[in-house]
Amino acid sequence: MLNRRRFLTLSSLSGLFPSLAFAHKNSVLHSAPTSGPLVISTWKQPKANAAAQAALDKGGSALDAVEAGVKIPEADPDDMSVGYGGRPDRDGHVTLDACIMDEKGNAGSVTFLEHIKHPISVARAVMEKTPHVMLSGEGALNFALANGFTKENLLTPKAEKEWREWLKTAKYKPIANIERHDTIGMLAIDSKGNISGACTTSGLAYKMRGRVGDSPIIGAGLFVDNEFGGACATGLGELVMRTCGSFLVVELMRQGRTPQQACEEAALRIVNKQDFKDIQVGFLAVNKQGEYGAFSIQKGFNYTITLNRAVQVIDAKSYLK
Ligand code: ASP
Repeated sequence: MLNRRRFLTLSSLSGLFPSLAFAHKNSVLHSAPTSGPLVISTWKQPKANAAAQAALDKGGSALDAVEAGVKIPEADPDDMSVGYGGRPDRDGHVTLDACIMDEKGNAGSVTFLEHIKHPISVARAVMEKTPHVMLSGEGALNFALANGFTKENLLTPKAEKEWREWLKTAKYKPIANIERHDTIGMLAIDSKGNISGACTTSGLAYKMRGRVGDSPIIGAGLFVDNEFGGACATGLGELVMRTCGSFLVVELMRQGRTPQQACEEAALRIVNKQDFKDIQVGFLAVNKQGEYGAFSIQKGFNYTITLNRAVQVIDAKSYLK
């Protein structure tokens, strides 16, 4: 629980804390964010947040919540950036990346995984059943099949049609997330105050075969340190990987930045060093106190928060207006 003095300090930074205004508009000071249950995810994901909240309501851990939450877009054929129905690589194969991290610092990841609808659950199995953190490609697929996952065709007729259309010009121009994109990074805090996170994607449409982005890379697409907070990223993975983006955000929180300040500073690190024109990167973070923040390079990034069962989609602040 935040004390009054700390809350007043936070309130004086209200520009940085739209969350406080939203969640506690009419409430007394002592009901400032606590480490109680909270679910937050990249983009507009009310159904995913609802599934995560339902897992928490059943007494599940933050880890159970994030897995249950991100499975929603993974199974949704209309969500063309994640799981089943995801856009394929340039050769027409849907290849998936996902990772998960719990409050003890355990992590699991799969990259370049084909034919499995729920890569996040395979990532969790890697974490819980193997001595490794990451399995890739054929090895990840074989591990999934050996652990009861079923092999499916993930390329939907709609995604195949778009890909065949793209083949006519076959121009690869990764303008990630400027238009709607749904790669999901999710962070949750459970009733014990523990933080876990998950991130899952089909990656950039029409990427080179074998390309892996930031989303399954612990420290790039996702990082959780249960003492301080968690962060996740979306956007052009190459830029996020080059800055160890999510690790950087959490590390900045460890050094005393608020989640909002940490996301802004991590985005500026990219802006100051890399060519970011036309490129989107968005960071989302929550700290141990349940304070949260988000920031992106381009306009258009938003996130979904479920706090005290109230769901809200919030537009993130951005570097370019
Ligand atoms: N970060 C993902 C990737 O680079 C894509 C995205 O978030 O839009 O694969």
